[in-house]
Order: sequence, then C-alpha cells, then structure tokens
Amino acid sequence: MYIGNTNYSFQPPNICPHCHVTNKPSEKYNERTVDTDGTPSNISIWQCANHKCNKLFVALYQMKGGKAVWIRFLNGLPKGPDWPKPIADLKSDNSDGAENSKFIKTYLQSLEAESYGLDELAGMGYRKSIEYLVKDWAIQNNPEKKADIEKLWLGQVIKKYYSGDLKDILERATWLGNDQAHYNRLFEEFDIDVLKELIALIMVELDRQHKMKHYIETIQSKK
Ligand SMILES: [Zn+2]
Repeated sequence: MYIGNTNYSFQPPNICPHCHVTNKPSEKYNERTVDTDGTPSNISIWQCANHKCNKLFVALYQMKGGKAVWIRFLNGLPKGPDWPKPIADLKSDNSDGAENSKFIKTYLQSLEAESYGLDELAGMGYRKSIEYLVKDWAIQNNPEKKADIEKLWLGQVIKKYYSGDLKDILERATWLGNDQAHYNRLFEEFDIDVLKELIALIMVELDRQHKMKHYIETIQSKK
C-alpha cells in the first residue's frame, strides 16, 4: 500500500472490529492520506469474511521501520489516550473475557459521551472510571485483599492502599469526580478537562511506580 510516495509491504488486519472474530477480511479500497497530526498514512476499507457479520470496517496504517504498520481501526470516535502498558494490561474481575479493563471501557464511553456534547454523563463516567482504576490496581497489587477492597468505599481504598503524592492526586480527582455526579457543584471552577488531566497524571504515576518496582525486583546485586 502507498504511504506518501512509497509502496510499502503490510500485513492485512486478521480480526474484525465488529464481531471480534479472527478471519481474513477482503480489501475493498485503500488510499494514501495524512492523519490529523500530519503523519503520512494509508486508510483502507475491508470486509469481514465471517458470514454472520460481513461488515465493512476502516483501518489506519502508518510507516514504522520501513513497513506499513496497522495503527488502529477508525470508527469516527475520538481516539483515547495512549494507555501505558501496565494500564492496558490491567484486568477487571467479571469483565467477561473483554479485552479492556473496566477502567478503559468506562473511560472510552465517557470520551464518546463527551464528543456528543453529553458533558454531564461524561463527568459521571470519568468519575466511575477512576473508581475502577483505583480498585482494580489495588487488587492487582494485593490479590489476597480482594474481598476487602471490593466492599470498601473508593475514598477508603485510596487511604488504605495508596500513599504520597499519588494518594493526594487520587483524592483530588475523586473530589472533582464526585462533584460531577452531584446536584450542587462545589468545584465550579474545575471542568471535565481538569478531571481528565488528573486521570492522565494518575496513569503516568502508576506506570512509573510499576516500572520502578519491576526493575528493583528483577535487577539484583551481583556482589
Ligand atoms: Zn466481522
């Protein structure tokens, strides 16, 4: 496929974003283009080969390391943040084999609501996503305390299982988030963008802590 003026080799998508069944979709169309940030890209249209589905979908490819690489399916919705790996890997209980944690699922639904101008729903959604992130992360690090964490209020989980700056930021995010869910708003001066920025900050800090823990555990003194 062409990206810019070069014809690159590429791997066709092997899963359908509608039915999530692995198959060999057939290519209907592809065209070089540029992404919203100016990155040279190629957009292709495919048809799912699963007979129960047969739906069309759109894939975005960009050049990486001399090849055209699949970036994501385009569904007309805003792109979510780039999830740090430990956040992307986080699993939720009862998520029915879903690929994403409840945090990511709820965050993306809130983003979708926000893109439709549904700011009240989006605010409550972001608040809910923080709760999933805080509890699932605490459970991942303290699996033996699962039952305890599940039955505590969000504020209690933050106090008991988080510390330092992260705890302070989590508390502030939940204050703003709670406000989004209540009739009389106390924090009028902070809007959804601030709440999202706090969530971004929380993800960076969880990623940092996860990496430090990993390297401290895996690199041992040779003396
Ligand atoms: Zn399909």
